[in-house]
Amino acid sequence: MVVYKGGLVMHGQLSDSVGTLRGVGPKKVQGLNKLGINTIADLLGYYPFRYDDIAVKSLAEVADGQKVALKGIVASEPVLARFGRAKSRINFRFLVEHDVILVTFFNQPYLKQQLVSGKEIVIYGKYNAKRQALSAMKLLANQGGNDFTGVYRASKEIKATTIKSLVKDAYELYHESLQDLVPVKLRAKYRLESHQQIVHDMHFPATAKAANLARRSAIFEEFFLFQAGIQFMKKLARKDEGIALKYNNDELRAFIKTLPFELTAAQKRVVNEICADMHRPAHMNRLLQGDVGSGKTIIAAIAMYAAVTAGYQATLMAPTEILAQQHADKLADLFEPLGVNVALLTSTTSNKAKLRQELLAHLAKGEIDILIGTHALIQADVEFAKLGLVVTDEQHRFGVNQRKDLRQKGAKPDVLAMTATPIPRTLALTAYGEMDVSIIDELPAGRKPIKTSWVRKKQLKELWGFVAQQLELGSQAYVISPLIEESEAIDLQNAKEVYANLAQLFKDRFRVGILHGQMKAAEKEAIMAAFKKHELDLLVSTTVIEVGVDVPNATVMVILDADRFGLAQLHQLRGRVGRGSKASYCLLVADPKTDYGKARMETMVQTNDGFIIAQKDLELRGPGDVLGSKQAGIPDFRVGDPIADLKILQIAQMEAQQVLAAPDFLTNPENAGLIQYLHQKVGQGQKFD
Ligand code: ADP
Ligand code: MG
Repeated sequence: MVVYKGGLVMHGQLSDSVGTLRGVGPKKVQGLNKLGINTIADLLGYYPFRYDDIAVKSLAEVADGQKVALKGIVASEPVLARFGRAKSRINFRFLVEHDVILVTFFNQPYLKQQLVSGKEIVIYGKYNAKRQALSAMKLLANQGGNDFTGVYRASKEIKATTIKSLVKDAYELYHESLQDLVPVKLRAKYRLESHQQIVHDMHFPATAKAANLARRSAIFEEFFLFQAGIQFMKKLARKDEGIALKYNNDELRAFIKTLPFELTAAQKRVVNEICADMHRPAHMNRLLQGDVGSGKTIIAAIAMYAAVTAGYQATLMAPTEILAQQHADKLADLFEPLGVNVALLTSTTSNKAKLRQELLAHLAKGEIDILIGTHALIQADVEFAKLGLVVTDEQHRFGVNQRKDLRQKGAKPDVLAMTATPIPRTLALTAYGEMDVSIIDELPAGRKPIKTSWVRKKQLKELWGFVAQQLELGSQAYVISPLIEESEAIDLQNAKEVYANLAQLFKDRFRVGILHGQMKAAEKEAIMAAFKKHELDLLVSTTVIEVGVDVPNATVMVILDADRFGLAQLHQLRGRVGRGSKASYCLLVADPKTDYGKARMETMVQTNDGFIIAQKDLELRGPGDVLGSKQAGIPDFRVGDPIADLKILQIAQMEAQQVLAAPDFLTNPENAGLIQYLHQKVGQGQKFD
């Protein structure tokens, strides 16, 4: 049987436990397991995380602070000093060519026996040129062989040297079982090494160059196999019957005509993509990406209406009650004249048991066409009569499982996930590889760009003066109170303090309100409703306002201590203004101390483009932090780094798509190994949602 695990194809034995190696007892097995090494294949795929150059150098070539291997003669009797509980030091003089330097080994008292005065040895360590001293790390066996040596991530139980010798044993015994999965043609085209060569040179490179070549091939291999897995899933999913939503085109056109605005070209394109996909019998799994304010809600409305004209129900899940309420209001207005029944299910509804039960009964009988809600939608007793389309708004806010649960409420309903978290295009394929992606890359016409300024704390007085001016003109403003990570209590206290100060400052002039996460849903709704109706001029809020809220008359967004927020979050917050035809302002109040903090503020001032901001954020922080990696679907790669190795990622993705799209992919014997691997991987269901 051929099994795939962690980068290696195994012919029977490769799947053996590491315990089959000589000298590996149950205790070592346990230690190795903790490092993620269970099988021989895992062990051979456990690559060094860096390499040390242990080619012997002469002192003249060594820079201060450099790590280096030096060959010389022990020139004085080593002195061992012990101190503390397990601490020790060995000192001796070391003759290297014509110079005598001082060598110190820390905490390796057992070396003393080998450090015999007059003996020639090679020591690896860090050289201090001023003191002419070597802080020694390793005593190397008298040289010969590899000058370039891998360093492994080790643990308390398993030393790096243990891993090294086990890898060596395993390679000798099993290397003939290592098989290639990347097609020969691609290996020739990109001059990639064979899998066996990769494994060899990753572990035992003769030179830095060999290690680099192997790494490059290993990265390609990893990205290629990842993308091939995604494409394979897609291939299988296409065969998977979904629902063909045979919507009524005339009714849909008529509905779009009744909208108070003309769709942008990008919106039209996206509507066409989604409708064509829904019409097909295959299951739709589509991501709609569009910057804040690009008009995603109306797209959801059109898609849901299409499902209804096809005789199905549709549902829309939003991450917050405020947002769900807002969607329900909007959609009810749109659909009421058409005789489409819209209902709202949130935890507030859930509190009213009787109301909830009635609603569920209507839903189960198919009397509700469109159900909008929060994650209250995924509770077990929510049953649809005939669910055809599931839409999630701000989908990054939901875990993979929540989305899945919702999908399981119907017989393979089509899925449309909307997000304003602009995954840079370069990464979209990796993050959302298993989904088809539609992008709205255009804002509705007539929008004035939001003017963003970075304001220091000492300018607050002027800032409030400016806000007052805008409110005088009939606009409304948000003030976001500082965020203290992971302490809702302090967030609340901050918001209350800001509120009290502003209420005092604007007393008798403006109506000031407050909104925060710990308010009851009904209170929040009341406040939002009041703000929408312009019964409030200024709203102090925590980040609960962050996603989706739409009040076109609000034109000023003040964010206090803006440097505490992530760039994506700042962009989302800023997106709450600039929704009408009036000029809008975003004022970031921050005194960042670091260059990094300043760079972030400057990025916000320089661009309104969410994609550019996401890219910047990614460069500044790395993908894990930006995307909440697991949730966004960015996998943990073992060798490759999707940012640093982006070029390879893109090429590997493109090639994998082509390989799997070939008509003879499944029948071409050259692909046998790859196909077997893919079946295995899909069978294990790993990584794919
Ligand atoms: P988001 O993509 O951030 O969810 P929304 O769907 O909330 O954006 O849309 C933002 C605002 O733009 C709403 O007030 C919406 O009615 C309006 N809008 C959407 N599409 C258009 C359009 N084609 N022309 C003008 N206004 C539009
Ligand atoms: Mg939205």
